[in-house]
Amino acid sequence: MTMVDPPTRPGGAKVPWGPRGTAAATFAGRLAFEHVSRSFNETAAVNDISLELEPGETLCLLGPSGCGKTTLLRLAAGVDRPTSGRVILDDEEIAGPNTFVPAERRGVGLMFQDFALFPHLTILQNVAFGLRKLDRATAHEEALLALKRVGLERYADDYPDVLSGGEQQRVALARAIVPRPAVLLMDEPFSGLDQRLRDEIRAETLAVLRETRATCMLVTHDPQEAMWLADRIALMREGKLVQLGAPDELYNHPVDIEAARFFSDFNEFDVTVENKQLKTPIGSFAAPKGHSEGASAHVMVRPQGIALAGARTKNAFEAYVSGVRFVGESTYAFLAVEGYDQQITARLAGAAKVAHGEIRKFSVLPEHLLIFSGKISI
Ligand code: ADP
Repeated sequence: MTMVDPPTRPGGAKVPWGPRGTAAATFAGRLAFEHVSRSFNETAAVNDISLELEPGETLCLLGPSGCGKTTLLRLAAGVDRPTSGRVILDDEEIAGPNTFVPAERRGVGLMFQDFALFPHLTILQNVAFGLRKLDRATAHEEALLALKRVGLERYADDYPDVLSGGEQQRVALARAIVPRPAVLLMDEPFSGLDQRLRDEIRAETLAVLRETRATCMLVTHDPQEAMWLADRIALMREGKLVQLGAPDELYNHPVDIEAARFFSDFNEFDVTVENKQLKTPIGSFAAPKGHSEGASAHVMVRPQGIALAGARTKNAFEAYVSGVRFVGESTYAFLAVEGYDQQITARLAGAAKVAHGEIRKFSVLPEHLLIFSGKISI
């Protein structure tokens, strides 16, 4: 096989290609939204969002269906215009009260849910599609390298119908990165794939993103996917930005109860501060600062935050095991505690040795405990 010379970046530096090829690096853009809103029939799908993506960062827009993620992405792509506010790429206003740079002049790469390839073009031509400004030979050379990067160069001259769903997705990824966009925009790019394939393509995409160093904004409703891919997550709700931060910040320090619930399941208890303690059916916890005597508090404990207690574990509680489910990496134990009429769920690591009908001692791991002030109906 002939080796293709690595392309030259401005400044003369050669981009090194690994054995399977490496995606060519790009010059990452800084994408910013300033007080951006977009309304449809008086209803704000995106409501006063200000957000800045650092060059080279992968930011996931995360939130339930209908919260405005795709609308925000479309505003960045240039396929829709904001009702108010400004979108800025590097130092250029690309959308604003008096400006609108059309999609094709923004230098952004798009990878959407329906990643349709052109059926009448070969796979190589599909990838080279975004390189029409280059001469044909160079465009094909670059496209071939991108195809090689995703492990599909052997299909270059075939048509898309020979490819499986996962392979088509890989070609779509190659097509999105080959023009070396300053910003890549991805809308639920893995949602059409089954679980195993999704994990594989996700890992591949992450590797390619790291190599290209493009700034990437990705829409997902799946918190696991967001945590897997993102440098920072922008959590949205009803058109608004609720919380912005690194995955562990959102997971460990959610701004509110709903944000916490978005990332995991919880056992939840409404309690009152008594003697500076929050007494729940599964243990007593110190009331955090700012929780005054007699005030209501909401205590949340993740199932994986309940573990079997050792003989000397403090603050252990006794429970009747009313059911056990082994699911591979963990074992779910359903617990009944005297004086409390709701079931408590524990997720124990590995194949935990608990059996239906036993009375055992458990305790709460503090890193899986969250406390909010106020009372809510569960
Ligand atoms: P998400 O991507 O988070 O699922 P969307 O951005 O697609 O949410 O939609 C946000 C809200 O805006 C929804 O209520 C949706 O119905 C509405 N919406 C989006 N696009 C349009 C449109 N072209 N016309 C009218 N309403 C729209």
